[in-house]
Amino acid sequence: SEKPVPDVRSRAREILQTVFGYGAFRGQQEAIIEHVSSGHDALVLMPTGGGKSLCYQIPALIREGVGIVVSPLIALMQDQVDALETAGVRAAYLNSTQSYEEVVRVEQAVLHNELDLVYIAPERLVTPHCLNWLQKARIALFAIDEAHCVSQWGHDFRPEYIQLSVLHEYFPDVPRVALTATADGHTREEIVSRLKLDHSRQFVSSFDRPNIRYCIVEKNNARRQLLDFIMTEYRNDAGIVYCLSRRKVEETVDFLSEQGINALAYHAGLDHSVRAENQARFLREDGIVMVATIAFGMGIDKPDVRFVAHLDLPKSMEGYYQETGRAGRDGNPATAWMTYGLQDVVQQRRMIDESSADMAHRQIQIGKLDALLGFCESLTCRRVRLLEYFGETSSPCGNCDICLSPPVAKDGTQDMQKLLSAIYRVGQRFGSAHVIDVLRGISSEKVLQWGHDRLSTFGIGATRSEAEWRSILRQAIAAQYVFVDYEAFNALKLTEWARPVLKGEKTVLLRPYVKPGRRHKTKSA
Ligand code: ADP
Ligand code: ZN
Repeated sequence: SEKPVPDVRSRAREILQTVFGYGAFRGQQEAIIEHVSSGHDALVLMPTGGGKSLCYQIPALIREGVGIVVSPLIALMQDQVDALETAGVRAAYLNSTQSYEEVVRVEQAVLHNELDLVYIAPERLVTPHCLNWLQKARIALFAIDEAHCVSQWGHDFRPEYIQLSVLHEYFPDVPRVALTATADGHTREEIVSRLKLDHSRQFVSSFDRPNIRYCIVEKNNARRQLLDFIMTEYRNDAGIVYCLSRRKVEETVDFLSEQGINALAYHAGLDHSVRAENQARFLREDGIVMVATIAFGMGIDKPDVRFVAHLDLPKSMEGYYQETGRAGRDGNPATAWMTYGLQDVVQQRRMIDESSADMAHRQIQIGKLDALLGFCESLTCRRVRLLEYFGETSSPCGNCDICLSPPVAKDGTQDMQKLLSAIYRVGQRFGSAHVIDVLRGISSEKVLQWGHDRLSTFGIGATRSEAEWRSILRQAIAAQYVFVDYEAFNALKLTEWARPVLKGEKTVLLRPYVKPGRRHKTKSA
């Protein structure tokens, strides 16, 4: 219903090219920029890396006055301002790390119309002093970044975001644009109502990355599997390999280098200059494999990364999406590959339990990990599951490991019952190795010591291999029948969901165990 504004449109393109040096807008950027530049409110949902920043930076340059950007990421403000200044944009920030003199200087500059963009932490923006000051200024727009922080439902709730509704009352004529990369329908409604964006237009971009093929394999010898994957599919291509620890990064670099692969390391333990040099080489040279902790990647924009490999489980679906999203930015085929095993689950749970976060926060992290496990153990299309997590409905992609070689789910009720009763019979006090020994009828020293060879469950799973039981156990954890209690030495324990299975009231479908080595069909020729 909106009329195109030719002036705004040509001005936006000109700024895109002359200030930011890009040839064309991506996705909905142009529509959003036109809308906001014309003085309207907007809610922008766009995946990380989608290009949200330009959606308020360009309107701030087109409109008269200063663009005020509310951002909770104080640590990133300096970088953003530096980048803008390099491009010739007059930018500054205000946060708690500055001296009084610095703050005054920025405030004065705004009043003298000497700035195009100012980043402000939310808790500062809503102070009477700040609101007072802004009322004397000429404001082009308000951009509310990470807008999901206003939602109490979300994982990043920040009380000071709630108070941002005052912007609407104090500045009814200034357009506001709220932006986020994570918002399911419920969170979206909450953003609209709490920020009083009832009259805003919503711009929802798809999170789908159609050129990325998702592939998750059962872990047996992770580094060998990785090597095999790189050698057969991406021998001379650039890629990123994510590991959890610095030590594993170093070991993996050594291993890949010995095999003749051009691998470099990146983690927070390296000297700043080494990190910078490795990053520069990765960006500049062809075919480098960057082995890194998640410290690597923020703000890295290399279009021809052909694969992202995970040797360890990410922390959440958001993390997985963000990390794998660094592959294939150029739109050409790319692969998100991961090797995953039971040990990963135990390790991640331990890290959560050991963290200093409070109980509520840990519960959220556990919930996020569980969602990721469900994804790993999925019997249906990975892409469908991934998009579903971000609130999008889609149909099977035909391109992920599951679509290319669908696991035929079979009735695993009996096996699951065997596993659950074995856990129950040993008193829910033993870890996976012991429980599997009992199931398989292995008279280990520990089994004999505890008299578990006399249990009714001893040997009831003798026909299955250890690897098969581990696979079933992972699925039991993913389905939340079982959890690993770190505080009890990784003992396996049953949840309330185990009961209907044990009582035969619930049928369990299991994905068949695929022997490692029998690899899924890969890159189509
Ligand atoms: P987001 O905030 O959505 O995560 P950014 O705004 O940081 O994403 O943009 C991600 C990257 O894409 C940045 O390096 C940015 O410079 C680049 N980018 C954004 N828009 C364009 C475009 N139209 N053309 C080329 N690169 C772009
Ligand atoms: Zn699929």
